[in-house]
Amino acid sequence: MEKTVLINGVWEAGEVTGLPVVDPSTGREICSVPSASEDQVRRAVEAAAAAQPAWAALEPWRRADSLRAMAACLLKNRQELAELISAEVGKPLRKSGEDVDNAAIYLGYMAEWDRRIEGEIVPSDNRDETILLTRVPVGVIAAITAWNYPLDLFIRKAAPALVTGNTMVVKPTEVTPLATIRAIELISDEECLPDGVLNLVTGGGAVGAQLCSHPLVNMITMTGHRDTGKKIMVTAAQTLARVSLELGGSAPAIVWKDADLDLAADAIAFASFENTGQVCTSSERILVHRDVHDEFVERLVERANRLKVGSPREDVDLGPLVSRGQFRKVSEAISRARTEGATLRCGGHGLPALPREGYWVRPTVFTDVTPEMSIFKEETFGPIAPVIRIESFEEAIRLANATRYGLSAFLFSNDYRLIMRAQNELRFGEIYINRTMGEALQGFHNGHQESGIGGEDGKHGVLKYTQIRTIYHRYG
Ligand code: NAD
Repeated sequence: MEKTVLINGVWEAGEVTGLPVVDPSTGREICSVPSASEDQVRRAVEAAAAAQPAWAALEPWRRADSLRAMAACLLKNRQELAELISAEVGKPLRKSGEDVDNAAIYLGYMAEWDRRIEGEIVPSDNRDETILLTRVPVGVIAAITAWNYPLDLFIRKAAPALVTGNTMVVKPTEVTPLATIRAIELISDEECLPDGVLNLVTGGGAVGAQLCSHPLVNMITMTGHRDTGKKIMVTAAQTLARVSLELGGSAPAIVWKDADLDLAADAIAFASFENTGQVCTSSERILVHRDVHDEFVERLVERANRLKVGSPREDVDLGPLVSRGQFRKVSEAISRARTEGATLRCGGHGLPALPREGYWVRPTVFTDVTPEMSIFKEETFGPIAPVIRIESFEEAIRLANATRYGLSAFLFSNDYRLIMRAQNELRFGEIYINRTMGEALQGFHNGHQESGIGGEDGKHGVLKYTQIRTIYHRYG
């Protein structure tokens, strides 16, 4: 792959030696993607800055039309994009196709915001004066993405930013950049957007850091690890660029004694194992009342064993982990949990029937987990369901909140008073009652505490790409 940098509508080869993209089901290199040089990053930001006033001056419905054209373009090339996602992420082809559909639906939803960005009129202290609060674009947005849903994470940033009149430089993750590069290539071939509105630079953390530090960048929107988010805030402090950071989580799932255990086991199996556990809202700590503990564990293990793990090209539920680094991290978490005294009920790493080179971990359930264990404390980001036995609702809430993260939490119960208590007492940005994970377009996906700043989706996810301008209109 050569031309992976898009500046003002012109494709260029990255000027710095490439980074390999690996098929995680075989461990083999698919291709190498060259990185953008410092000069290319600078020119990409300048192109976005130059294109921004004209883009913002367009009628909003024209910008919305561009988003709809982007959606149509993605759907027209659904199969090709899905195959790229499966090749680089390792997720089953059926699910990668759903990712493309979701990206197109997201563009369609955000296009509807064209006529909905409203201002306010507030009374003035002066006679013959009106005070208007209007919403204007933030300007140039730097978008930095993670690898677990590469196309969706890019569109989740681009759609609201573009419809509100901002321009963008995207740096996809170096781990899975292919679907994003190809999507932008298709969008640019079909001329869905004016030149300079959407620019692309490839590369790793160093390129991301250069992009974030450019003085013409007005806002950085990033999805990734908590520690990277903290580094980006330090960089942004130099230019006072706004930040929107969607970071990791360690979601608790409370199963109370009156829960529908089949519903809870289905929902938690999905929330623990979907995308091989590589979802920011994955349930990573399962707190089960002692009266139903054994029965629940039996059902969860049964569901874990039922999931088919295998090559993304076959009809399977789960593929491998995304990379060797991720495989090492998850394998170490499994080994450490066993050393620290947790009981392995099913799963583990390695999968004899599949290529030894791939990064395979089976859906894994641990019991006898305690809050002192490493597996309780850190985000594993793998298909691991650690179960903790609880005695009381107070203990459940206390343990659920015993984390610096605050993205999502789950509760399974039919006791109205406990549900209301959980809504008030759980310190998370998104709480699922009697259902599994999966955000709505019109909701607001936002992490509290160290899970992030900003949030995405819905009204609040659009408005963050605008800033308020106050106009004192004296006419007397
Ligand atoms: P990561 O932080 O390693 O990388 C994310 C991006 O940041 C990459 O594009 C990387 O090149 C870039 N980057 C690295 N260092 C940088 C720097 N100093 N300055 C600027 N950019 C830099 O994360 P990852 O491993 O790709 O993704 C996994 C993490 O993402 C998990 O913690 C997961 O929970 C989180 N995540 C969160 C959400 C959410 O919506 N909250 C969604 C998906 C994933």
